[in-house]
Amino acid sequence: MTDNTIYDLEIHKEYRRRDLHSVFKGQMQGGISTPAKYDVVLLFSSNKSSNIYSFEDGWNPETGLYYYVGEGQVGDMTFQGGNKAIRDHLIDNKHLLLFKYVRQGIVKYLGEFVCLNHHCILLPDRDNNERNAIVFELVPKSDFDYETSEDVDEIYSSENYELSLEQLRLKAMNRGDSASTPLERKQVYYKRCNIIKQYALRRANGVCEGCGLSAPFYTDKGNPFLEVHHIDRIADGGPDEIDAVVALCPNCHRKVHYGQDGPQFNEFLRQKIKSIENTLS
Ligand SMILES: [Zn+2]
Ligand SMILES: [Zn+2]
Repeated sequence: MTDNTIYDLEIHKEYRRRDLHSVFKGQMQGGISTPAKYDVVLLFSSNKSSNIYSFEDGWNPETGLYYYVGEGQVGDMTFQGGNKAIRDHLIDNKHLLLFKYVRQGIVKYLGEFVCLNHHCILLPDRDNNERNAIVFELVPKSDFDYETSEDVDEIYSSENYELSLEQLRLKAMNRGDSASTPLERKQVYYKRCNIIKQYALRRANGVCEGCGLSAPFYTDKGNPFLEVHHIDRIADGGPDEIDAVVALCPNCHRKVHYGQDGPQFNEFLRQKIKSIENTLS
C-alpha cells in the first residue's frame, strides 16, 4: 500500500516527456530536470542525448541499487545544478521521480526514489577525456514506507528484543559506522530502517499512535498488531529518522493514505510524534 500516485503518475506507465513538462515545466533537455514551482526533481534515465558515454543507468545486479549518472558533459562532474539537486533532495524536501526512456520522446515512470549516497567512477567525457563522473545510488522510496504487516512477529523477535526502549532509541538514532562501498551502504541503511521500524512498534507499546486505541488483535505469537507508517517529508533528516515513523492500527493507516482528510491526519501525526519524541529525548 505505497503511495504511487504522486501527481497522478502511475508506476510503469509511459508518458511523453513533453507532456510531463507541460505540467511541471523545468528543463526539457538533459537527464535532470528541476522544476521551480514543484517540489520534485525529475530524473530521466538512459537519455541517449545526454548519456552517450558507455555507462548505462539502471539497476546494479551486485548491490541492488539503481545507479544514475549525474550531469556534466566535459571535465569532472561537480555538485552543481542537477547533481546538487539529487544529492540534497531530502534536505530540500524534493521528491525524486525517476523515468526511463523507452524510445524517442517517451519515458516510463519507475516511481519515487531516495538518493542514499553517491560514488565516482572514471568515464570518458564528450571530448573523450577520462574524468570523474558522479554515480548516484538510488533506492525506491516504497522501501521506506514500512507498510507491509506480515513481519510484525519478526520485528518483535529480532535481535534487539532485549533492549529497553531507551537503548533501542539510541540505537535507532545512531547513524552508525560509515560504510565504504555502495553495497555496505545499502546494507547499513536497510538495517537502520529495520531498527527504526522496531523502535516505532516498541514506542507505541501496543497502542495506535494515531487514535490511541489498543491494537485490534494479537498475532499468532501474541504480539499486538500495528503497522508502521512513514510520515512523508520532514524538514530535516531523511526518511530514516525516528520521528519520521509512526505505528498505526490498520484503520488509521488506511485513513492517512485514502481518507479525505489524509494529508491533515498525516500532519497531525507528524506533530504528535514530534512531541512524543521531545518528551523521550
Ligand atoms: Zn488508530
Ligand atoms: Zn503508510
